[in-house]
Amino acid sequence: MNQNKKVFNNVLDLIGNTPLIKLNRMTSGFDGDFYAKVEAFNPGHSSKDRIALHIIEEAERQGILTPGDTIIETTSGNTGFSIAMVSIIKGYECILAVSSKSSADKIDMLKSMGAKVYVCPAHVSADDPRSYYQVAKRLHEEMKGSIYINQYFNQLNVDAHYNSSGPEIWNQTSGKITHLVACSGTGGTISGVGKFLKEKNKDIKIIGVDAFGSVLKKYHETKEFDESEIYPYRIEGLGKNLIPTVTDFDLIDKFVKVTDEDSAHTAREISRTEGLFVGYTSGAAMQALKQLQAEGEFKQGDQVVVIFPDHGSRYMSKIYSDKWMEEQGFFDSKHTATVETIQY
Ligand code: PMP
Repeated sequence: MNQNKKVFNNVLDLIGNTPLIKLNRMTSGFDGDFYAKVEAFNPGHSSKDRIALHIIEEAERQGILTPGDTIIETTSGNTGFSIAMVSIIKGYECILAVSSKSSADKIDMLKSMGAKVYVCPAHVSADDPRSYYQVAKRLHEEMKGSIYINQYFNQLNVDAHYNSSGPEIWNQTSGKITHLVACSGTGGTISGVGKFLKEKNKDIKIIGVDAFGSVLKKYHETKEFDESEIYPYRIEGLGKNLIPTVTDFDLIDKFVKVTDEDSAHTAREISRTEGLFVGYTSGAAMQALKQLQAEGEFKQGDQVVVIFPDHGSRYMSKIYSDKWMEEQGFFDSKHTATVETIQY
């Protein structure tokens, strides 16, 4: 993207080159300087714009995809939105197979972006023909001229970050970055950015953020897949119940686990103290910073970059709803603004 341009050819020209914003109030009293890479500044409001654009353009370069073809993925989240956006501009059909657990709002949002949505039963196992994995696979096999993005197992997901977010962070910190703190879902962000940074300076610490209920941290420490680590949790996009092949565990120095509750409160705190309206995993990443500071990870002079993956607007019926917070037992009066209803 050329930020000096007055006019852009289309919305895709605005993907990437997101700002690095100094955290002031959230990190007061911490050792070092802290900066957030705010991915909500992408036109689709998340870091997934980068991978959607890169994977689709790579398929075009390889001649696998030509206008009128179909792009398939299994997600109701940010990746689905970004693929739908790129598909509109480039003239592709977009099919998203999603779980029946997905909120009506999310499904409506994808439909608004022209995607065809298959809602698949959430309660069936991944190898059941009705599961969203199997539905996506079948549609891809049946449809000539289709590609299946498969972000958890597609190396291009990592390459997208190696080519864009990695160099951006290196340049924005003039090479002075000492720590990267990033949530790990597919692992695309941490592996791509981490690889770029370690190639520049192997001493930069790459720290992953994982959820309680996910297997990633334990797998990193033991190289064993421990099913007993798996249980339901509320943060979306962070952690996993399987080992994504795109995650490069060798270049990650360590993982920090965060709770649903701390992450929700911390996201609300970022909005109200820094004026940055961010999503649930941004709260998780910031919560990890707090824990790392308490453990003595940082020292004066350190330059720490934390990635805030998406925008708060996607969580209005979750962490930004007092009712939802209360239902989870997360209520906290400190981060709730007063609303007065005027009676007529
Ligand atoms: N935060 C959110 C909101 C996400 O949707 C994702 C992607 N699953 C992540 C963080 C983690 O990014 P990655 O998949 O690159 O590890």
